[in-house]
Amino acid sequence: MIDVLLAGAGGAALGALATGVYYPNSRLFGRAIGWGPRGGGGLYLTFDDGPNPDATEAILDTLAAEQVPAAFFMVGEHVRRFPATARRVAQAGHEIGNHTQHHVKLHTLGPARIRDELERAHATIAETTGRSPRTFRAPHGYRNPFVASAVRRLGYTVFGWSFGVWDSDRPPSEEIRRRVRSKLAPGAIVLLHDGDGYDPAGDRRLTAEALPGIIRDARAAGWEFRSLAELVA
Ligand SMILES: [Zn+2]
Repeated sequence: MIDVLLAGAGGAALGALATGVYYPNSRLFGRAIGWGPRGGGGLYLTFDDGPNPDATEAILDTLAAEQVPAAFFMVGEHVRRFPATARRVAQAGHEIGNHTQHHVKLHTLGPARIRDELERAHATIAETTGRSPRTFRAPHGYRNPFVASAVRRLGYTVFGWSFGVWDSDRPPSEEIRRRVRSKLAPGAIVLLHDGDGYDPAGDRRLTAEALPGIIRDARAAGWEFRSLAELVA
């Protein structure tokens, strides 16, 4: 569908459409929050593509020990597979967001498929955890106009992110930690991964191992971890 849109658009319009599709914080297809308030010393941790027992459980242990809030954008199919881990995230009070049922790239899909992906994930998460998601993040940030209408029906606040560190490529945990430290900025929404959108058994333990150091570095530099819930409309 986006190919049709792009084929029919020229020059600047084409550039703007491509930005709307691929840039996670673009406003073209509805508002997506990519930063918290830039004035303070707040940071927001977000984890995508879980739950994944090996990584998510270790991350929850660290967050509890350090009393740090976080947001988890969950894949519905992974919630169905690992309900106990999803429930533990909810019970710890972290923000739980919708990341589609099957982690599909939405920008090429039509309205019915997109609505189905979002509404099935919403139902799976709500039935499993007892908490209805209020937030959405598109897989890879890819959106189109139909995503905006599906999101509106569910009353969601849409999030992008300020920066990621390619932790999905599984660099050493010290490298994940170093990349986060080098990019910290006021109000940053940090994208990390506690799961693999395409493999429920994907290994994200290196991200979990990096987390204590990430928290230590940020606090040593004077940053404060805040809840993404503050940014929900
Ligand atoms: Zn994802």
